[in-house]
Amino acid sequence: MGLIALEAAPPLIGSGEAEAVARELYGLCAQAKPLDGERDCNFLLEVSDGRRLILKFIDPGLAEAIVAGQCAALAHLAEQAPEVPVPRILASLGGMTCPSAGLAAGAFRVRLITCLPGRLVSTVAPSQELLRTLGAQIGGLDRALRGFSHPALAQPLAWDIRQATTLLPRIAQITSSRLRPLAAAALEPLPSLLPNLRGLRAQAIHNDCHARNLLVDDRGERCTGIIDLGDMIHAPLVFEPAVTMAEFLNDGLTSIDGLEAILGGYCEVQRLEWEDVETLHPLIGARIALGALIMACRARSPGKGVVSAAEWPPKDTALQELAAEALELLTVTGREQLTERWHEVAGTGRAHRAVSAAAITGDTSALTPMLRRRRETLGAHAELSYERPLHLVRAEGVWVYTASGERLLDVYNNVPHVGHAHPSVVAAIARQARRIASNTRYLDERILDYGERLLATLPAELDTCLLVNSGSEANDIAWRLARLHTGQSGALVMAHAYHGITEAITALSPATTRGKSPAHVQQLAAPLATGTAAATADVLNAIQRLAGRGFGVAALLIDSALTSTGIFDPPLGWSQAIAAAVHAAGGLIIADEVQYGLGRSGSHFWGFARRGFEPDIVTLGKPVANGYPVGVVVTRRALLERFQQETGFFSTFGGNPVACAAALAVLDVLQSEQLLENAHATGSYFVDQLKAVVATQAALVEVRGCGLMIGVEVAGLPERSGAATRQIVNGLRERGVLIGAEGPHANVLKLRPPMPFRRQHVDAVLEALTEVLRRLGPH
Ligand code: PMP
Repeated sequence: MGLIALEAAPPLIGSGEAEAVARELYGLCAQAKPLDGERDCNFLLEVSDGRRLILKFIDPGLAEAIVAGQCAALAHLAEQAPEVPVPRILASLGGMTCPSAGLAAGAFRVRLITCLPGRLVSTVAPSQELLRTLGAQIGGLDRALRGFSHPALAQPLAWDIRQATTLLPRIAQITSSRLRPLAAAALEPLPSLLPNLRGLRAQAIHNDCHARNLLVDDRGERCTGIIDLGDMIHAPLVFEPAVTMAEFLNDGLTSIDGLEAILGGYCEVQRLEWEDVETLHPLIGARIALGALIMACRARSPGKGVVSAAEWPPKDTALQELAAEALELLTVTGREQLTERWHEVAGTGRAHRAVSAAAITGDTSALTPMLRRRRETLGAHAELSYERPLHLVRAEGVWVYTASGERLLDVYNNVPHVGHAHPSVVAAIARQARRIASNTRYLDERILDYGERLLATLPAELDTCLLVNSGSEANDIAWRLARLHTGQSGALVMAHAYHGITEAITALSPATTRGKSPAHVQQLAAPLATGTAAATADVLNAIQRLAGRGFGVAALLIDSALTSTGIFDPPLGWSQAIAAAVHAAGGLIIADEVQYGLGRSGSHFWGFARRGFEPDIVTLGKPVANGYPVGVVVTRRALLERFQQETGFFSTFGGNPVACAAALAVLDVLQSEQLLENAHATGSYFVDQLKAVVATQAALVEVRGCGLMIGVEVAGLPERSGAATRQIVNGLRERGVLIGAEGPHANVLKLRPPMPFRRQHVDAVLEALTEVLRRLGPH
């Protein structure tokens, strides 16, 4: 597909035609005056009732979806953030936001929007204060766009910095011999930067906030408008300040202070992360170079009859000189120096770190009233993580933030599977919640779409599903299914397994019954000795013991990640030996995928597939809807239909359309962001790096697991090493890294981050871990 906006010029339409369209489609008697436009043909309408409106004839080359995307973005902003000054769309007499008009030059889609007050920022000499205000307004726009998504945002737009490499072969078309080498040098870092960009927070951004798209009041103080959302894309958030800073440089801003004012204003409203700021310098250079390339391409491809080749693009030479000056300014001051300054401005620099370090080494007195309220409201034994509890107020991707502004790397939570507050999931939930949140006694496509998508990822015989609200409920239903189907009531579970909170499932969770199990439950040994013969002997012995107590095997319930058992990753032979014995005894296999499902192992979408089990029932929970409570039971049609018939099963919230919209969004993001592949790549790197640490650290003995489910056993007698493990977990928390402890003796470090966890995050964990171990001293 070609790049959009690479070779474009506005269509030629007369004022008379615009006035006729205003009259016929909108019932307006107005005078039309032509305005500038890069791709659309725009008119200012001075309406007889005194209003000033803008009539846009949309570039016919623009795809329907893109036009729809722009309308949807304006509608989103009008609804979600009316304080953000963007134009409002006015509907035609026929109630359409984008009607069609037949003109002499052909058929055009038309949009009528409000004309915002003020003048273009390009007509004033912006003060530092104004630049800061503009930055803040743009930050506000991005906050408002967080929850917006639209397929059109993925279109390959020429003005997307990531496309600059596509245009690189055209560099010779830049005519200025001063600009050409500067542009080439500015684009040099881009290929190696591109993979890192995928790890940054991304969302819908305006992508074109320059001085001709920003309006200011007559006093030059207040931003009165942000216009032209025609270049919106889904991109790393940092592109927004980068593009704005680049465009202001391009427009002749010659002071580094001015750039800092824009960035400072932006960060007052919209926080950037350290990784974002690291990319600013190369991104700004690349955007300036990209502008030069696009200009050069257009110089070779004159507009569609608006201006002659000789005139297009206008003032090319002067623009090339400005671009050259902008790139020189960036080069002379240098990436390192500018990045350091920008870190300070963005609050991600060393000084800032010192402040947050001070905040985290302080006492917990600020939390005390809250802890008291909590004890009074929730009881004294409601569990809290970490010696110094966390008061989390927001989260994004793999980061969580406390009330005191501390940022911590989340290496623990698997519920925000595709990343905390993922905008696609948030938008899906909000969209559906606005429509209807009903229950499964009504027809709704959402549950069907989700069920079909989910079942398509599972073996063919697992063809029917039932939705509930938690992993516990899913396991409870699975256990009932197994008993009903087999007519037996004995269970096999792993040592120190955890499967949930209902009475029936607590009995099947030795982790919560202090290792003791009731008569109908028999535990299997953890796969320490991984030999097939040992596993077979163990399971046969367990079946015999159950029989001895009068119980036939209804099911083996197994967490495919063996999480609370101690995070083990035994070879296929181990699981196959167990599965064969259970099936031979007439029992079913319930694969509890609450921990391992949806790609966490990195090698397989399902944990049972990694283990080599062929389960009869699969249960899901935690990661299904990224924090929206959803549990799922999948099994064979005959089992489920019999259960439904006999019980008349119905769950009020289970499978409601909001839950299903969230769960569908998770499947989409897993695919579009290739998170299984990421779990594999990051997980392999993580395991290798941890093994290297373990090899040199007496305090750690073994790394287990794969993908983004990793355990590291702490040295010492298992019963005694829990204390050292706690010290490591709490030490890491004080250094901004959240992990947990696992296993029967809580002596295994549990590393189980959200799926968009990248190499740079692994490096941050290792740095903190090494430091904590150094302070821990000889073990
Ligand atoms: N199964 C496993 C393997 C789990 O880890 C958990 C939760 N930790 C559950 C089931 C229970 O899920 P929920 O807390 O959603 O009821």
